[in-house]
Amino acid sequence: MPASLAVVADDAATCTRCSLATGRTNVVFGMGDPGSDLMFIGEGPGAEEDKQGLPFVGRSGQLLDRLMAEEMGLTRDRVYIANVVKCRPPNNRDPLPDEIEACRPFLEAQLELIAPKVVVTLGNFAGKLLLRSKDGITKLRGRSYPFATGVLVPTVHPAYVLRGGGEPMAQMRADLVRAKQALADADSPLATSPTGTDR
Ligand code: URA
Repeated sequence: MPASLAVVADDAATCTRCSLATGRTNVVFGMGDPGSDLMFIGEGPGAEEDKQGLPFVGRSGQLLDRLMAEEMGLTRDRVYIANVVKCRPPNNRDPLPDEIEACRPFLEAQLELIAPKVVVTLGNFAGKLLLRSKDGITKLRGRSYPFATGVLVPTVHPAYVLRGGGEPMAQMRADLVRAKQALADADSPLATSPTGTDR
């Protein structure tokens, strides 16, 4: 981690800016390669993430890993993964607007320091927040958007794919192919990883 990202992570580790702090086991700041051209942003930690202090390590994360490998030829150590809120909302409820607002400086700092060429948002909350949109993910997905130092590709949340079966799965696959193309357009070495090896 670059020194300044470590400083932000240290700050987050003791954060009490919102009430989620009282229920957490661990702050889930983020993981992966902070020098990566690709960043995934989810919603917030679930039970397993809270226990391990790492993002996307439960069932949704296993699906994310599989689709990342199959559609992009990538493993999680080559990308950076974070969430909109860094502490687990109780009973996996949606994060509240004041919680998202309180946590937003951490995500903004991560985006600034990592400066990914491609950001993939997973689900409603990350897509709406970063695109400053009122539209939900069904409306937002299917294209890429100019964003900060590169582009943003919104896709559905892997938990929704796990519940929803065929169509959401096809959507997420198509969006990851779109993200890989965006990496190629940005001349990222991540775009040259072979895909389809696990099918
Ligand atoms: N869902 C998320 O949005 N983030 C995680 O880290 C795990 C599940």
